[in-house]
Amino acid sequence: MRIRQVTQFVLMAILVSCSVASAQQKRFNVLAFYSETTEPDHVRFAQDAIRFLSEYAAKEQFNFEATSKWGDLNDERLKNYQLVIWLNESPSIAGQRSAFERYMRGDGAWLGFHAAAYNDKDTNWPWFVDFLGGTVFYTNSWPPLPAQLSLDDSGHPVMAGIPQNFESPANEWYIWKPSPRINPDVRVLATFSASNYPIGFKDVLTTGDLPAVWTNTKYKMLYMNMGHGDKIFTSPTQNQLIENAVKWLGSGAPQNTRQKESGQRVNPHGIALNPQTGKFYAVNTVQGTVTVLDGAAHFVARVRVGDAPEAIAINPDTNRVYVANQESGNVTVIDGATDQAFATVPVGGSPYTITVNRATNKVYVSRTFSDVTVIIDGKTNMVRSIKAGVGDAVAAESLDSDTYMISYEADQATVFDGNEGRLKVETSNHVWAMAANPVIKKVYVISVGNALATVISGTSHTTKTVKTGDFPCAIAVDSNSGRVFIANFGSGTVSVIDGTTDSAIGTLSTGQFPQAIALDSSNHKVFVVSMRTGMTTVLDGTNNSTVGTVKIGGAPFAIAVNPNTHKAVVIGLDGDLTVIDGTTLAASPLLIPLEKQ
Ligand code: ZN
Repeated sequence: MRIRQVTQFVLMAILVSCSVASAQQKRFNVLAFYSETTEPDHVRFAQDAIRFLSEYAAKEQFNFEATSKWGDLNDERLKNYQLVIWLNESPSIAGQRSAFERYMRGDGAWLGFHAAAYNDKDTNWPWFVDFLGGTVFYTNSWPPLPAQLSLDDSGHPVMAGIPQNFESPANEWYIWKPSPRINPDVRVLATFSASNYPIGFKDVLTTGDLPAVWTNTKYKMLYMNMGHGDKIFTSPTQNQLIENAVKWLGSGAPQNTRQKESGQRVNPHGIALNPQTGKFYAVNTVQGTVTVLDGAAHFVARVRVGDAPEAIAINPDTNRVYVANQESGNVTVIDGATDQAFATVPVGGSPYTITVNRATNKVYVSRTFSDVTVIIDGKTNMVRSIKAGVGDAVAAESLDSDTYMISYEADQATVFDGNEGRLKVETSNHVWAMAANPVIKKVYVISVGNALATVISGTSHTTKTVKTGDFPCAIAVDSNSGRVFIANFGSGTVSVIDGTTDSAIGTLSTGQFPQAIALDSSNHKVFVVSMRTGMTTVLDGTNNSTVGTVKIGGAPFAIAVNPNTHKAVVIGLDGDLTVIDGTTLAASPLLIPLEKQ
């Protein structure tokens, strides 16, 4: 579970039980508990798991039942089962909790997935924290991405037949604090590889011990970090691991390093270019500042803003720069002529997505885990909040007087017209980023979950989809050529789409894990950065060739390019800026005059 409000979700028709009466003696009995009203992607996981475990039960001759009635967590019912599974939630009622404690102190066995072990300061169940190995949920990656896991204990029965390293499908990864590994009773069986760091397009895990599968040897139990979304059962290797776990726990099987956990939120709009003045504006989330660079990427000023600034939007017409400050819940307005902050606009907690509509001079802000869109009047800085039905928005773009907003968990883009109206346009599922072409009036939305781009007509709002590579996560449009460039995190490629025909016309290799993209529209060069590898790849967007690569390190996650000077500026996770000369491909850290440091 991410820390968020629970959304109602109607469970589709699913197989809730396969307890078909059989004369044959089954080897053991398993009862899985799940919730239908938790996060939609946790419900989807539960549906897939029930299907998967039902088939496995039929094959392996054990009895499997699933229930969403947590009231079944009582002594009378539990005594019939050798194994209890929690798929996506844990009990909140005292009587159910104490029945489970008695069950586990006796002969019971437990398998928990992902959100089933989620606990925080409000959970108030110390026994359960101890049961997990003395650990509590600390933070998560976002959105769900695949990761390499490596085995700590290949000799354990749960790891039989599992290779030393394997790719676990897209999942929201949880870091636990302290790492359960430091508990001498805990045996970690598989760990999230350090090579996955940093991971995330929004919530980034940067370092830390992240046990993926572990058991507290004081009990017959196993916890698995996996369990978010509909990809979990797409890996035969991981499926084998899950089967092994059920068999080991169900058949009554008997029953150490320390790292600092670390996570951080990033936004690809942490840097922005004012096309009118050529200036760059880049957030420094740690210091609570925005660094201003001129067109040649020389230091101009450092502006103090709110706490944890994350995203920037610029109105070139009014020369105002809007900075969304996550921790202070406000937007700092910078005057681009003087590069001084002149207003602070409260917008509520955790603003993340921000965009300017030039036609209406309105600024649209959306907050993490919020269904509220805040609209700032660019003239007066007056604020209006509306419940727009967008959900946890991840990106926004403007086209004429329309403003489009998308969220990972909605299958629609919300379009705000310049007045009071808004409408919904169907997109693909699990969308992540978007871009607009104001010349031909199209908006492109990419689906990180489905490897698709949806092309929306800005005039008719009709749509068309185009295939991309795996995990498309960043997009840039060359309005002059009409070409659209999409960075595919999973494939290590850029997909090129022709804006006139809306068809894919090429695939460029970028190296592994491209995460952010920017265009130099004057020479059609495409810059792609990888936070994981620290590489910047420069591509020629006219003939689909690679110009070169630059190693810059520092885990870059956001980039902007000035088309007149061909300078690119990149932000790293530590907040430091690197300047790349687009002509020579030389990279150097931003030089800040001594008196300004
Ligand atoms: Zn989750």
